[in-house]
Amino acid sequence: MNITIPLSIAALLAATTLLSSCRAQEAPSDDRTDAATDSMKVQKSEAEWKEELPHMACFVLREKGTERAFTGEFWDHHEKGVYRCAGCGQALFDSDHKFESGTGWPSFFQPAEGTAVLEEEDDSWGMRRVEVLCSACGGHLGHVFDDGPKPTGLRYCINSAALSFDKEDTEDTENAQGIRYD
Ligand SMILES: [Zn+2]
Repeated sequence: MNITIPLSIAALLAATTLLSSCRAQEAPSDDRTDAATDSMKVQKSEAEWKEELPHMACFVLREKGTERAFTGEFWDHHEKGVYRCAGCGQALFDSDHKFESGTGWPSFFQPAEGTAVLEEEDDSWGMRRVEVLCSACGGHLGHVFDDGPKPTGLRYCINSAALSFDKEDTEDTENAQGIRYD
């Protein structure tokens, strides 16, 4: 028996635990109590979020994770409608403000309403960026950069996993109503 086998199993288990932390039943209590989250309309414990959200949504919204470029549901999505917070359902972005950024993440030049998102300085990973959060539940959405298109010059770079989509009720444009010109 080789000693490296149990070691590699242990490493594998550790990696699995790490990857599935959003699903962990008895996750250690998260001490993330930002001042901002105290005033949120939607307040849930981190355990409740973990219970309710799909893995990727939890990873992005609650753990400030980032999905890999070109892997999300909405980077190449072109239907008309409203993008909502996958955590609490608040309307965040409108398809009218979406543009092709080429980054592999859904990108918008402005939020649906000025109050839909919060912006906070983020100095993680050795970069100075501005984090974008849902103003109702405090969920992490992505970051905003100042290299976007007109009219705002902003680029809200958002994770698909943080969003859900409500397709616009497009009225039936078939207005001919059977009138025929023989
Ligand atoms: Zn939210």
